[in-house]
Amino acid sequence: MNKNLCVKLKRRPQGTPVVQDFELREADVSADGVLCRARYISLDPYIRGRLSGRHLSGPIAPGEAISSEMLFEVLEASHGFAQGDLVRGFGPWQHLVRLSASGLQRISENLVPPSLALGVLGMPGLTAFAGVRRLLKPEQGEVLLVSAAAGPVGATVAQLGRLAGARTIGIAGSDEKCGWLERNAGLDGVINYKREALREGLDRECPNGIDMYFDNVGGDVLEAAMERLAVGARVALCGLMAQYNSDAPPPGPNPGLIIKARASVHGLVVYDHEDLRADMEREVSQAIADGDLVYKEDVSEGLEAAAEGFCRLMRGENFGKALVRVV
Ligand code: NAP
Repeated sequence: MNKNLCVKLKRRPQGTPVVQDFELREADVSADGVLCRARYISLDPYIRGRLSGRHLSGPIAPGEAISSEMLFEVLEASHGFAQGDLVRGFGPWQHLVRLSASGLQRISENLVPPSLALGVLGMPGLTAFAGVRRLLKPEQGEVLLVSAAAGPVGATVAQLGRLAGARTIGIAGSDEKCGWLERNAGLDGVINYKREALREGLDRECPNGIDMYFDNVGGDVLEAAMERLAVGARVALCGLMAQYNSDAPPPGPNPGLIIKARASVHGLVVYDHEDLRADMEREVSQAIADGDLVYKEDVSEGLEAAAEGFCRLMRGENFGKALVRVV
């Protein structure tokens, strides 16, 4: 009889994972649950974070089985499942396993190929769909830029954007990927960032700026896209391929913290909010009069003191609203 093999983490990867970080071990089929045979394993970038013990979905420690979303074939009818049913669920990367019925979802036999349940019709598809419909909200003719555009998330984002009437631009790392994006996925423009300077490609494909950016990468790609945001742009921070293999936090604000907190980040320019001025004046002056709001002023005396007052401000030495009393 064939051995029931399981992929385990041997040691935490340093940088980009290597096969020596993993090991194949014989495993027992646990006693309880639906007996399943692995049919497909979903390999997803978030697993890298789990291997370092820093992902929302929980760590994988050395010695433990690697686990992820998988497709299984049910081998014995039980718990309402029939023999031969295809089911999706989280499980260890091993041939045979018993899994709790509550974590398994039956996959329609009409789904061809069934592996779509792990891709464009699974978690990556949902990620793309939610990002486009809930966050980016494309409008006709707007420019949508997507990084890691040939992956299941990126390609689905780009195509949902195209279907909504956006002009879609994809960033990907090979001519083969870029060709597929243009010819098969119908993108309007592509940038192979490994072949041409990213910023030149962005200037060519997005000369009037970027209305929507769906970021799967972070790092320099995010920075270059941010440099070209159009007024009113929406940015969906989804993934950080450029930093998953690194233990050091990237310089500058870490978009991973924004993703983790599901925070909304908005651009504010006061000039857009002039309509609130009368309300502000009324409410703030009333709060001052009521003793509910205090303020401080840092007043330099005389025009001659203006330059030094400004320098103090820029040295951070002012305490309160920096002013010059001229007369
Ligand atoms: P994927 O695109 O199939 O694979 C990742 C791709 O990232 C690679 O093929 C590579 O393609 C690109 N990449 C860019 N810079 C890279 C770098 N420095 N190192 C390695 N690869 C790099 O993956 P996916 O499943 O569709 O996921 C895409 C992103 O979405 C990932 O960041 C993932 O973590 C994220 N995600 C987030 C959520 C969420 O809930 N926030 C859910 C699902 C996925 P190129 O040739 O184009 O460089």
